[in-house]
Amino acid sequence: MQDLRKLELTYLPGIGPNRAKMLSQELNINSWHDLLYYFPYKHIDRSRLYMISELTADMPFVQVKGQILSFEEAGAGRKKHLIAHFTDGSMLMDLVWFNGISYIRKAYKLHTDYIVFGRPNVFNGRINITHPDMDPANTLVLSKMSMQPYYSTTEKMKKAGLTSRSLEHFTSTLFTKLQDPFPETLPDYLIERLHLMSLDKALRLAHYPSTAMELSHATMRLKFEELFYIQLSILRYSRERQAKRHGYRFEKVGDTFNNFYYHHLPFQLTGAQKRVIKEMRMDMNSGRQMNRLLQGDVGSGKTLVALMTMLLALDNGFQSCIMAPTEILAEQHLETFRSFLGDMPVRVELLTGTVKGKRRQAILDGLRDGTVNILVGTHAIIEDNVAFHRLGFAVIDEQHRFGVAQRARLWKKSPVPPHVLVMTATPIPRTLAMTLYGDLDVSVIDELPPGRKPVKTIHTYDNKPEILYQGIQQEIEAGHQVYFVFPLVKESEKLALKNVEEEFVHLQQVFPHYRLSMVHGQMKPADKDAEMLKFVSGETQILVATTVIEVGVNVPNASVMVIQNAERFGLSQLHQLRGRVGRGAKQSYCILVTGYELARDTRRRIQIMTETNDGFEIAEEDLKLRGPGDLEGTQQSGVAFDLKLANLARDGQLVQLARDTAASILDADPQQNLPENQILWNRLNYLNQKDEDWSQIS
Ligand code: ADP
Ligand code: MG
Repeated sequence: MQDLRKLELTYLPGIGPNRAKMLSQELNINSWHDLLYYFPYKHIDRSRLYMISELTADMPFVQVKGQILSFEEAGAGRKKHLIAHFTDGSMLMDLVWFNGISYIRKAYKLHTDYIVFGRPNVFNGRINITHPDMDPANTLVLSKMSMQPYYSTTEKMKKAGLTSRSLEHFTSTLFTKLQDPFPETLPDYLIERLHLMSLDKALRLAHYPSTAMELSHATMRLKFEELFYIQLSILRYSRERQAKRHGYRFEKVGDTFNNFYYHHLPFQLTGAQKRVIKEMRMDMNSGRQMNRLLQGDVGSGKTLVALMTMLLALDNGFQSCIMAPTEILAEQHLETFRSFLGDMPVRVELLTGTVKGKRRQAILDGLRDGTVNILVGTHAIIEDNVAFHRLGFAVIDEQHRFGVAQRARLWKKSPVPPHVLVMTATPIPRTLAMTLYGDLDVSVIDELPPGRKPVKTIHTYDNKPEILYQGIQQEIEAGHQVYFVFPLVKESEKLALKNVEEEFVHLQQVFPHYRLSMVHGQMKPADKDAEMLKFVSGETQILVATTVIEVGVNVPNASVMVIQNAERFGLSQLHQLRGRVGRGAKQSYCILVTGYELARDTRRRIQIMTETNDGFEIAEEDLKLRGPGDLEGTQQSGVAFDLKLANLARDGQLVQLARDTAASILDADPQQNLPENQILWNRLNYLNQKDEDWSQIS
């Protein structure tokens, strides 16, 4: 069979240049291949006729065979509509049109059999169908209709007369043109072992199944294939890299580490922290480069784990660095590190965009001659003029702001790539982690330090602020601090900003005896930092802010997080914000303030927040509610993937199966030279042709 990607749409009867252009612009369908892989979003069983007397308003789509007895025009102006009184002999119902009235009157004949298709409603005690599909009864063969495919279209397409029906026409023409079987893309032994449908059958049945069972077998085969090639690609790449990439060996646990552990650490490590440090020690002594993702809920003590691993590096003669997404966070890390280390002879320096002149030069010199042991900073670290004497370990904090490309720049700071730890407080469900970070090993801190009281989360409506203010007053009187957070919506940034500023003035009036700070994204970084520091140092008691405080700021004395318009935030974001409190030993609160009317999904989000503090549970729920769509695949994983059928949230088990299958194939055929697997490597090459050459990065 020829390459369907090279066959233009206009070669298909029914598609001229205009329609081809529309399909390309609206649905990104550019070839026969694209059309073949444009799957219906649903199918409706059209093999059965209903009697009008059977219909109820809660039925989905139904079809009825009968005749129009008469037309009637009703209403006036914009409410004007056309009613056709329709009967199948058992009863009467109304067919209703609000537009195209004169066309409809001309197109449909009285006393002629039609098959009417639509969703039944009840209005004034009568059954009706609005804007039904109508086909002359003699043109439809019901036994052949069975499961009718429905394809998504856009408004623009509909206006141009390109409907789901048109697409149905195109795909069915496509299949009649392509009678030869589509060549198989999976090895026979896999198809047999996993009881998969052949590709040929699956492609045809995904569009035109005759039963729901056939449809689900077909979809399962296609979903598996999508996920399988992604996993195979990721795993093959990471194994190749592992085999090639040598890493420094950190052989000993030396004096600095031990001195810190036994004499400076003010508390016991949690079991999870110990386990993760051990995992990293093993990695770092394996002779291979470590690439590890550390997941841990906010406040679980990741930063300390990073610091202790840096001391291991130091004991083995290496420098370390940690890269944070903002200056504030970098400064906090510096503070934290210095206070943990106390008088230990470890030189920690800060490098950000605002460190300039002599100070900067001194740090750059210290990095080059090796006297700086640990460098804390922002993006400034990866600039070309920053050179290390011997960089052995690099930590990237709150990774979601760093893509693979930036990671890659770190690699280059050292002749042998440094060990890398990526830390994230955004817990990623396993199935997603496996796909997005398929080339990283994953460690998890699943235990909070002892003595933490879980944050109590309360939902209130915005019409009774007095009670809220009273509670806040009590907390401040008890010596605690309070966050007030407002959403900042991109479309109306000005408006949201006004809200924050107005609210700031309002809260100053409500709390005249306290000092307030305000931060938002439109402030100059220096002003923002100054305001933030006032709150961090305890000079102000209330911080009014937009989500700029979302990431990682640590003020253990803050005990209340008020989130205004909580309905505007996603689950993960709410959880991140909540993580700003509950960092000390006292009871903390998160107050979610919303309007009274809430959409179902929103109510669910708020409910989940009040029910659990478990970041992983929340991430799973979030993935279910939102879908993984906005987790830019390419940027994070370096692997371009475009899932047409599979859904990382819903198809977790298939992801696992795809992963295990890919791993077992690579185990059995490490040289990739078994004849039965040739089909796989050929297919991977074919799939990767259109992608960027991501194997060069990271
Ligand atoms: P994360 O970076 O995971 O959000 P941090 O490392 O900032 O968490 O830790 C949050 C707070 O908990 C810090 O004040 C830290 O000193 C403290 N902490 C970390 N580990 C422990 C522990 N094992 N026991 C008690 N407190 C801890
Ligand atoms: Mg942190």
